[in-house]
Amino acid sequence: MSTQQPLITLSDGNHIPQLGLGVWQATQEQAASAVCEAIKSGYRHIDTASVYENEEGVGRGIQQSGVAREELFITTKIWNPDQGFDKAAIALDASLKRLQLSYVDLLLIHWPAPKMDLYIDTWKAVIAAKEQGKVRSIGVSNFNLDHLHRLIDETGVKPVLNQIELHPFLQQNALQQAHKSLGIETQAWSPLGQGKALSHLPIVAIAEKHGKSAAQVIIRWHVQQGRIVIPKSVTPSRIQENFNVFDFALDANDIAAIGVMDEGQRLGPDPLTFPV
Ligand code: NAD
Repeated sequence: MSTQQPLITLSDGNHIPQLGLGVWQATQEQAASAVCEAIKSGYRHIDTASVYENEEGVGRGIQQSGVAREELFITTKIWNPDQGFDKAAIALDASLKRLQLSYVDLLLIHWPAPKMDLYIDTWKAVIAAKEQGKVRSIGVSNFNLDHLHRLIDETGVKPVLNQIELHPFLQQNALQQAHKSLGIETQAWSPLGQGKALSHLPIVAIAEKHGKSAAQVIIRWHVQQGRIVIPKSVTPSRIQENFNVFDFALDANDIAAIGVMDEGQRLGPDPLTFPV
């Protein structure tokens, strides 16, 4: 199985594999077997979070895969109640312990949680963790442009990426454009619209045209537009299928047909009000 896949260079000089495996809603056991299966299928990038309660499973899957730690790119996230300078540092240590790792490749603040107003202090802890070697790259998730500007203005340190909800029903073109001007990569969560986008006509028709599955078409759409993408599956055949997107290309008509699917429709919470 080929492990050839695009790498994206982050603003700090580190490289992230463009396609990774997401493990939200996977149990510890499912996470362990999905991560092992994914790594054996060629994936080198895994996206978890402390709130997913499967970091131990992810750690076991990494061990079982037999692939060297340095070849892998592992992300975890600081959950909302762990925000604040001291709590975030403690939460990261707990995540590392559960993952059985001495560092993660990417640490994200999971949500800005503006009502808590702790993301600046949390970011300072994330910066300190990088200086201590516990984290290679640092980023955020679910931040809007105001949150990003405040973070950069108050700390002088830019996140390497912003992991945001992004799928055919919510394409976030304005935020993606803003990321580009700031030199921040866009990472798409729920990239398949939690599976809901797969049965929609433009996707099905494009899949038939290319002899590919609907999931492969959507993942290819993300890859071709330069986003980092982390589709989730715990089913071995789908894990393999979702990685097999580097042998075909969508044309301008395909991209335009998916473009008109944008309804500005969130499947997850609104970052301005979450958590309530
Ligand atoms: P997704 O868009 O990746 O969809 C996953 C679902 O699509 C699966 O559960 C399955 O039902 C279906 N699916 C996957 N591959 C398929 C295939 N080949 N054929 C048919 N159906 C298929 O949804 P997601 O899990 O919400 O998002 C992906 C990852 O993004 C998560 O696992 C997590 O790592 C991350 N995430 C992050 C945040 C955040 O706030 N930062 C929020 C949600 C998700």
